[in-house]
Amino acid sequence: SQQLMEKIVALCKRRGFIFPSSEIYGGINGFWDYGPLGAELKRNLKEQWWLQMTRFRDDVVGLDATIIMHPRIWEASGHVATFSDPMVDCKTCKGRFRADQLHETPCPRKPSKMVSECEGEKTEPRPFNLMFKTIVGPIESEENVAYLRPETAQAIFAQFKNVLETSRQKIPFGIAQIGKAFRNEVTPRNYTFRSREFEQMELEFFIRPDEAVEAIYGEVARPAGPGHPGEPQPNWGWQMWHQYWVEERIRFYESIGLPRTTLEEYWQKPEELAHYARACVDIQFKFPFGTQELEGIAARSDFDLSQHQRYSGRPMTVFDEELRAAWGRLEPSKQQDLQERYYRHRLGYLTRMGEPADKAEASARQDAEMLGKGYYIPHVIEPSAGVDRLALALLCHAYDEDQAPNEKGEPETRVVLRLHPRIAPIKVAVFPLLKNRPALVEKARQIRDLLRPHMNVFYDDAGAIGRRYRRQDEVGTPFCVTVDFETLGEKGPELKDTVTVRDRDTMQQTRVPISGLLEWLQSRLR
Ligand code: ATP
Repeated sequence: SQQLMEKIVALCKRRGFIFPSSEIYGGINGFWDYGPLGAELKRNLKEQWWLQMTRFRDDVVGLDATIIMHPRIWEASGHVATFSDPMVDCKTCKGRFRADQLHETPCPRKPSKMVSECEGEKTEPRPFNLMFKTIVGPIESEENVAYLRPETAQAIFAQFKNVLETSRQKIPFGIAQIGKAFRNEVTPRNYTFRSREFEQMELEFFIRPDEAVEAIYGEVARPAGPGHPGEPQPNWGWQMWHQYWVEERIRFYESIGLPRTTLEEYWQKPEELAHYARACVDIQFKFPFGTQELEGIAARSDFDLSQHQRYSGRPMTVFDEELRAAWGRLEPSKQQDLQERYYRHRLGYLTRMGEPADKAEASARQDAEMLGKGYYIPHVIEPSAGVDRLALALLCHAYDEDQAPNEKGEPETRVVLRLHPRIAPIKVAVFPLLKNRPALVEKARQIRDLLRPHMNVFYDDAGAIGRRYRRQDEVGTPFCVTVDFETLGEKGPELKDTVTVRDRDTMQQTRVPISGLLEWLQSRLR
């Protein structure tokens, strides 16, 4: 599997998917650039996510926020205090390492040994904050320190009210965002898997607290068993929504060519959960270097909006007409029961956040009162995925070698990226059979121009046709179109104005009329 990884890395370099950042200066650890094909691949990925998560849904809208935000955001989110990895310094070899990875990190002084086995003198582990710092404005002082965002999610919370008030959405609904995130990882590794600059695709899906659902519908629908719970229903509690999003995300991966069998669901154990999380599922992919997280789907209760309410002083509550109307019809004992549960939930949160007991109790009482008037802070389900990790997973899964006949008809090893057509950087390559026959070249260019407004087309007239096929196989192009003498009508009228379309995976060739070519391709690329 290390060999496989080496082949993939070499292919990505050779064919222009991924380059080390700043390579002419020796590179910079943890930073990667996407070349021409990598850029297309990533665009396709983000496009698919955006289509499926927002455009094709009525209940999700988009956001595009800044990377640098008010530093208080990161105090409210907890990143300033706790977003850190434990780190040790080795005084002997002058290295700095993740304390939890000493047994897997080679010693820089004696690479045959792991840091854990070398005799170098080491410090006690201490926390290392992963946020990149910068200065905003011309004065380099402590109060002008800001951070490059370590996740895109917080902007969604900070803009929650603006979006709610301008988008005509009502709870339940979601806000989606794609963008760069930065983490000063102590040990970036596994190629692009753990980088210091990367892109995330995050959805915050806001839902009613279960107490509100129960007040309106009498009871809360909970999962009956594993699997997709179907179309969203108004009486769903947070567990239904969580399971729904786990399944939706797995369906997304399937739709871009990662079968369920390549994925694993890891349900975090209660002791692994963050204090505010009610559940968290990691969707993992079986990378050649191990089974590792692609995406996390967390049920985060009302923690995030509550924190921003406390830190900004702005109310993050929503008014829910249906709750207000339903509340009046409830038995007083039911009202009391729901308010008591909501009170205990709010008190638990405020206490964990270090509010003094009397203040916490008064504040939680008030929250429970407000529930009865139709107000609450929405809870949230967060599917959070990494673009770069997904691109790497797709490349790893797509990489294949098989046998194909060479020019002389002898079997030869062929490298082929079996990328899903939706994701493939080049959708179709167009070749004139020979480059020194103007009629062939002209026809091929016409076909290129016909297809170009609709998809990424690559025109190639260099070298033997078999070699041109191979070049496209290696970058995952699903179809190659060849213009030959039949196309020109030189072999009889019945094949005039038809082309050969060759399929990457089956290597089968089909004759398709030029007039129907665009539709033929589009139906297979969707
Ligand atoms: P890990 O445990 O691997 O550090 P995480 O649990 O901290 O990841 P989250 O904070 O949940 O990750 O981030 C959500 C997603 O963002 C991850 O599932 C991953 O796809 C992506 N991501 C996080 N850190 C990195 C990184 N350093 N490089 C590339 N992608 C990342």
